[in-house]
Amino acid sequence: MTRHTDTAVATDLTLRWLVRGTTATAAILLLTAVFDIWPFKPLASTGTAMLLLAAAVTIEVSRRSGWRSHRIHHRWAGMLTGLGILGTLIAISGVGQAWPIPMFGLGLGALTVGSTWMILARYRSTPEGVDNHGVMTNPTMNRGAAGWMLGILMTGFYVLVYWYPSALDGLVRTTDWLSWAMRGRAADHWFMYSLVYTLAVAVFGIRAWYRYRHVKYQRLRTLSVVFVQVILAFVLPSILVLFQQPEFYFSYFWPLKWTYLWPGDYGMGWILADSGRLGMFMIGWGAIMSFVATPILTYYYGKRWYCSWVCGCGAMAETMGDPYRHLAPRSTASWQLERWMIHGSLLVIVVATAVLWINSATEGAMLGSLSGAFAQTYGFLFGSIWAGVIGVGFYPFLGTRIWCRYGCPMAAILGLQQRFFSRFRITTNGGQCISCGNCSAYCEMGIDVRWYAQRGQNIVRASCVGCGICSSVCPRGVLKLENGPADGRLGRPVLVEWEDVDILSGYD
Ligand code: SF4
Ligand code: SF4
Repeated sequence: MTRHTDTAVATDLTLRWLVRGTTATAAILLLTAVFDIWPFKPLASTGTAMLLLAAAVTIEVSRRSGWRSHRIHHRWAGMLTGLGILGTLIAISGVGQAWPIPMFGLGLGALTVGSTWMILARYRSTPEGVDNHGVMTNPTMNRGAAGWMLGILMTGFYVLVYWYPSALDGLVRTTDWLSWAMRGRAADHWFMYSLVYTLAVAVFGIRAWYRYRHVKYQRLRTLSVVFVQVILAFVLPSILVLFQQPEFYFSYFWPLKWTYLWPGDYGMGWILADSGRLGMFMIGWGAIMSFVATPILTYYYGKRWYCSWVCGCGAMAETMGDPYRHLAPRSTASWQLERWMIHGSLLVIVVATAVLWINSATEGAMLGSLSGAFAQTYGFLFGSIWAGVIGVGFYPFLGTRIWCRYGCPMAAILGLQQRFFSRFRITTNGGQCISCGNCSAYCEMGIDVRWYAQRGQNIVRASCVGCGICSSVCPRGVLKLENGPADGRLGRPVLVEWEDVDILSGYD
């Protein structure tokens, strides 16, 4: 039996069990709704059950058809996705607030199921291996009119979330049932946003899985970012809220989540306020991850352990942002700008943290009562505008890692260590390179990978997030991500440069 057939049989079996498990869970939830059994509210149970049943039917229909007629699937899935977009817009308008669960099904539910179906229909039927899938010519992915519209929509969504959340109240109400189920309280706009974010990572995670399924590193990495986002950044914080504890994210640390080590009510204060030992554990966890685990892991694995395996910003970039990675600016000017901006951002966060702690230790001698405003202004500029609106909204214009390249202080620290004190490097087998340029085109950090490959020179760059896509799309197996000994990792080109050849020596 070939490896391909083996994989197909195993996938089919997995899908069967997935359908059975999903249907059984939906049935149990419906029973809890009928008998109004703790801990779920009937509204929450019914909504969850409907969503699970819709997912089970979609998977089963697709599985039975054997994915042969993928064009038909694609059409139906496209229509369902379109219905989902329309339903979401109707929900935002406030129409249908009297029927929140059906509206959720018509909006975010249909959008989630439809886009998952579309991805499965498209990618399951294609063979494993490198395929550009028209990303360079598709107007949605290459700054065409559709791409611009998408970028404006995404940016607009972020503007509403941060500054006009009441405009999204209709959509927020459709997620109440889930918020009651998970957190024991009605949804707010941050819960809705977190749900949308998590769904996007999960759905496009399926796309990333299929697109790069020929490489084990990519399969594991995709599983990791989806798992961390769903469990550590969505389910666990919700459960903490359910038990009246701080909504803490175990996958974010200072300086990316700067408030976790800032003093005062806008910083550690709210974590410690009512949570006793658990709050102390959270603060301790954050401090240990920032100052102990991070340097050790970066020494052994480079910044990839965090940027491409754990971080929520990276998760979004590697999943929903994947179709836009080739749009990353690559000019020398953009590289110089990147260095100034990201290290400037790191400097600002270090100074801000020091100022706030000195202010706290001197009981307000430096900033007086302005410390809260100072912290809020920082959060507004960096958290809202930079990481949110530009960082994600601009994917269709500037590629996927805009925040990671130009703004993230965590990436700056990890990058400095990766460049000067780490075992990580990408080795290149220059003799095999055919200069196709796939690697450079797909590098989301704008690194000219081919330049190194042609010379057979190791790639040791502060900005490299170790996503490994350059290696996965290389048709010649030239590039390899390695954690070798730190000595000699910078390497020298193995190719002889023309300036080094002096054929006339000895004749003058
Ligand atoms: S390293 Fe691979 S992908 Fe990059 S130019 Fe050479 S052959 Fe192409
Ligand atoms: S050089 Fe390769 S591994 Fe590094 S960021 Fe670019 S594509 Fe990812």
